[in-house]
Amino acid sequence: MGEQTANLNVGMDDQRTSVLAMIAVKPTRLRSDQHSGCTIPQMGTTVMKETFRLRDDLPRRGWVWIGITDNGTGDFKCQNCSFPHVRYEHELKNKKTSIRIRVGCICAQHLTDDFTNPKLRERDLKGRAGRRLRWPTLNWRFSSKGNLYLKKGGNVIVLKRGPRGGWAVSYTLRDSFESEWVRVGGWYNTPDEAKLAAFDALYPVSR
Ligand SMILES: [Zn+2]
Repeated sequence: MGEQTANLNVGMDDQRTSVLAMIAVKPTRLRSDQHSGCTIPQMGTTVMKETFRLRDDLPRRGWVWIGITDNGTGDFKCQNCSFPHVRYEHELKNKKTSIRIRVGCICAQHLTDDFTNPKLRERDLKGRAGRRLRWPTLNWRFSSKGNLYLKKGGNVIVLKRGPRGGWAVSYTLRDSFESEWVRVGGWYNTPDEAKLAAFDALYPVSR
């Protein structure tokens, strides 16, 4: 059983570990499992590993990958194997019965017989989480009108302070103050909240 010996293979990858430690909000630290490519949670020095075993009442075949959600903490229970420390929930649907389940990366790989895409989706989502975390700390500047702005990735993002102290956000789809502005709805209490609203509007979670 390669799966069960895999926790011995977990290697140190200092850079990745430190980035993930920044992203993780809860005490659970995350590492990439070199055997499966899946993210595995770790408490202190204890590595907790999801192990695939088909739940008795589930069909073995016909599962398709639907989407992934970051629940923020590693406390979701895999609906197939009951592993209790899932952070990234993979949603699967059965083509024959149409039932949907949410499972961890390892079970998603086995049930869909796809050992590539679930872990890549998980990495995409983690990468986005890291970019979102750094986004408010990028090179935001004050314009001559007192607005905060950022030029990034072909967009200009501008935060304006409203008469009641809240912040409004707009962005352009081209790297120019002259192009058309798209307003992100709502008022935000702090510049950081407004910045993150712009991030979510510009970079929605891919499904
Ligand atoms: Zn599982």
